[in-house]
Amino acid sequence: MYEVDHFINGSFVPASCGTRLSRENPATGAPLRAIARGGAADVAKAADAAQRAFESWGCTPASERSRILLAIASGLDARLDELALLESEDTGKPLSLARSLDIPRAAANFRFFATAILHEASASFLTERPARALNYVLRKPLGTVGCISPWNLPLYLFTWKIAPALAAGNCVIAKPSELTPTTAAVLCDIARNAGLPAGVLNVVHGLGAEAGQAIVDCPSVRAVSFTGGTATGRRIAGRCGERLIPASLELGGKNAAIVCEDADLALAVPEIARSAFLNQGEICLCSSRILVHRTRMKEFTERFIAAARALTVGDPLAAESDLGCLISKAHREKVLAAIERGVSDGGVVATGGGIPRHLPARVAGGAFLEPTVLLGVPQSSACVQEETFGPVVTVHGFDRHRDAVTMANGTRYGLAASIWTRDLARAHRIAARLDVGTAWINCWMLRDLRVPFGGVRDSGIGREGGNEALRFFSDVSNVCVSLGEAL
Ligand code: NAD
Repeated sequence: MYEVDHFINGSFVPASCGTRLSRENPATGAPLRAIARGGAADVAKAADAAQRAFESWGCTPASERSRILLAIASGLDARLDELALLESEDTGKPLSLARSLDIPRAAANFRFFATAILHEASASFLTERPARALNYVLRKPLGTVGCISPWNLPLYLFTWKIAPALAAGNCVIAKPSELTPTTAAVLCDIARNAGLPAGVLNVVHGLGAEAGQAIVDCPSVRAVSFTGGTATGRRIAGRCGERLIPASLELGGKNAAIVCEDADLALAVPEIARSAFLNQGEICLCSSRILVHRTRMKEFTERFIAAARALTVGDPLAAESDLGCLISKAHREKVLAAIERGVSDGGVVATGGGIPRHLPARVAGGAFLEPTVLLGVPQSSACVQEETFGPVVTVHGFDRHRDAVTMANGTRYGLAASIWTRDLARAHRIAARLDVGTAWINCWMLRDLRVPFGGVRDSGIGREGGNEALRFFSDVSNVCVSLGEAL
């Protein structure tokens, strides 16, 4: 059992209330972590530490902040094996995925923002009337900011917020998900060893309604960056609205993959299968609705079902496992209920739909679920309309591209979509009409950290990535310098 403590003012400390949350390994059911149960008292201590640290961190030169953040990235690289194992244990995801995706991306997040701040430029305006002046835009850190992240890509998303916040010169009070807190704690150790001054990064663990809420309510927190469910995001947005502080919200998705009549299925089938089932379908960007031109429906579904059946669900620690287990049995119940709903609304399960048999003994009681494909579910079904966040897709036919666009836009979410066609002009026309933050053409989850990332409608407000994130974590002010009379 690993004890996970808060990290406040450069030290690991237990919760003020003296209690811990317990977490089981979702694959084996074995006791895994005892996590400090934070609340307002812990957040208040973190806020004091952050405010004190900001006096020097807020005016530390960008080159020095960059040097420390690059050292954190190297520290993450150096502890790749340890971090990947902890991430796999916490989430149930395949160890191979944590090693190849989650942890390398966490290091990349630090490297990206550490170097981005070395290339910042600010606008200036030469004013001629009513008098000569030079106006320039001054970018300043906000002070203390709050970062709250979910369980599906724990360190990946935690660092996606913390790296730009620190790079921009802020101090941070952060909370990872109570289900997956461990790699965030190791990150604190790495940051301390890398020379990040005490109080600059503070991590308070615990439940959303306690520690998370306390961060959002904390009077010295000047902005909140949140990734998680839409209902939570709405609550946080309401509170930030009352407090008149900015909130960046990355929320749920119900993403469509649109397969046109001329799609290259040799490319599209394996990539859409990856987009549906990677990380057990527990990625906000995963495709969960596949819209296929009616002329390719039979061929596509046969090949796609075969691709789903070929995936190995198994022990997250085994090299051959393509899918591990879901985050918890409670979450699996929700995913199973969505499948049942799809069936009761008229759909049929073409493959999957249940708990895999023949699991290795070590993980036989884990929260595993087969990759599942449903056909014939009506658009109105909650199974099609609501986020499932599991290895479940529905497949639907369309006749005209405009019908595909209407279906793709036909849920309350607007995070991402992919389009599969050999005709790039058509792909562009479709992409331009999709109400989403990201459209991929003949690819999926091909990420460039410079591009704006985020959703529309119930998928969120604001953009992360590149300069957008640095801007979110900064205040701008205008400085006007009189240039006096012309010569
Ligand atoms: P969640 O909303 O339950 O929790 C997210 C975080 O918020 C956790 O740390 C939680 O403790 C905290 N929290 C909960 N209630 C809170 C409150 N009242 N105040 C402050 N903090 C609170 O989400 P989850 O179940 O951890 O994650 C899954 C969701 O995240 C899915 O909906 C998924 O689509 C979404 N997600 C979105 C993106 C994106 O970039 N758009 C990325 C990953 C996950």
